[in-house]
Amino acid sequence: MDVLEWLAAALGEEAVTAGVLSTDPELLEAARADKSGWAADGLPLAIVSARTVEHVQTTLRAASEFRVPVVPRGAGTGLAGGANGTDGSIVLDVSGMNRILEIDAEDQLAVVEPGVINSDLNAALEPYGLFFAPDPASRAVSTVGGNIATNAGGLLCAKYGVTREAVLGLEVVLADGRLLSTGHRTVKGVTGYDLTALFVGSEGTLGVIVGATVRLQPIPPGEPVTLGALFPDVRTAAEASARVTAARLRPAVMELLDAPALERIAAHLGRETLEEAFGASDGAAYLLVQFDGATAAADAEAAGTLIAETGGTVRVAADAAEGERLLALRRAFHPALAASGEVLIEDVAVPRSRMPEMFAAIERISTRYGIPIPTVAHAGDGNLHPNFVYTGDEVPAVVWDAANDLFRTAIELGGTLTGEHGVGVLKRRWLADEVGPDSYELQVKLKSVFDPLGILNPGKVFGGR
Ligand SMILES: Cc1cc2nc3c(=O)[nH]c(=O)nc-3n(C[C@H](O)[C@H](O)[C@H](O)COP(=O)(O)OP(=O)(O)OC[C@H]3O[C@@H](n4cnc5c(N)ncnc54)[C@H](O)[C@@H]3O)c2cc1C
Repeated sequence: MDVLEWLAAALGEEAVTAGVLSTDPELLEAARADKSGWAADGLPLAIVSARTVEHVQTTLRAASEFRVPVVPRGAGTGLAGGANGTDGSIVLDVSGMNRILEIDAEDQLAVVEPGVINSDLNAALEPYGLFFAPDPASRAVSTVGGNIATNAGGLLCAKYGVTREAVLGLEVVLADGRLLSTGHRTVKGVTGYDLTALFVGSEGTLGVIVGATVRLQPIPPGEPVTLGALFPDVRTAAEASARVTAARLRPAVMELLDAPALERIAAHLGRETLEEAFGASDGAAYLLVQFDGATAAADAEAAGTLIAETGGTVRVAADAAEGERLLALRRAFHPALAASGEVLIEDVAVPRSRMPEMFAAIERISTRYGIPIPTVAHAGDGNLHPNFVYTGDEVPAVVWDAANDLFRTAIELGGTLTGEHGVGVLKRRWLADEVGPDSYELQVKLKSVFDPLGILNPGKVFGGR
């Protein structure tokens, strides 16, 4: 009996007839890729579209029995190649486990299955006056399980924290099929090692998340106040954002767009759209800042003064609707790039005070390699997304050379290779450079404790040396 026969028998006829186990070539082909621009060689063996925890457990038992790799997958929107079905693997798709099991408004938590779409959870929470804070730009399509597995961040995380801060407990199926519960429903809890935090950001290499208890936050009162500022150059804009942070103002959103990014948006939406929104078009960088909560107006005024002193031409949005239109321009950035080719979205982060140096380095690297690098930054947390647009199926070698320079610069500035997208396949060759040999070795050993047979997403995160 081979692994597929074993799996079919263990899942049962009803599940197999319902399509839980599939070897459809079109589905297998689609499962080789995610949104990172990288597709695995070869083809996965099968896809399990799990509907229940038992389906996940059965799949991992089969994989252990036959030593077959398993690639956990949510919505496949990852940008590091982590969910890509490798040759001969079983892709374990949990996006169909998408029920919200509980909303507890009193304790401000929700219990969800891993396949719940981030924005569906927030839509369900709104009537309770609560929200789930992690807000990746992919929130309309990515799953809460995927957000947890990648420790996703977003526009709001400088103020409200990344996904790690929003996870209280997890249900995880281990490599041998056992079901493990971690964490608490309590706000506090320090019994034993924090396994919940370990699974957050583990990119499917330690276990398969089949349930999560997530922390919710009250929707801030009142209307947010938004302001935008044009700058003559990006370094000054980065200095202004660093000054806002240093002044201990806490914007909910602080986004910075450089000149190539503004060019792309103008080409996509029309220059007049930007002129109307900004009140001018003669800027080489744009800083967008939004405050929420009871002190929003006073905070915005203080930030506006600082930004103007630093050299920005400030314009405060008249109302929340105008603020939303400004945010929509920021959100148009990725569609604008995608309209002109394939996009490699990079994801370095540096201490916020070092952002001016990182932007200067991006300009130098762009000139050195002769390629435009339109960049946006979540300036409130120092996370920059330098982007490369290319044509064809493969990321060109010159783009990787430029990206290599970017990564090394970010590390030299005291930063990191990845602020929120993860290591996956695309960054594994730089992992040891950042964490150092001792940490790397410990992490490899840690994985082998959870996954002694090496069946959980092998080749992802580790193995790049
Ligand atoms: C247009 C666009 C914008 C984006 N913007 C952001 C952004 O602002 N911030 C950000 O952080 N990311 C962003 N991303 C990246 C991506 O959306 C996030 O990483 C997201 O969290 C992935 O969720 P997913 O459900 O698509 O996971 P997948 O892509 O399916 O999987 C991602 C990784 O998690 C693992 N995994 C998935 N589900 C589970 C599970 N249940 N148990 C164990 N492992 C699992 C996979 O093996 C893989 O390693 C963006 C992507 C796109 C395409």
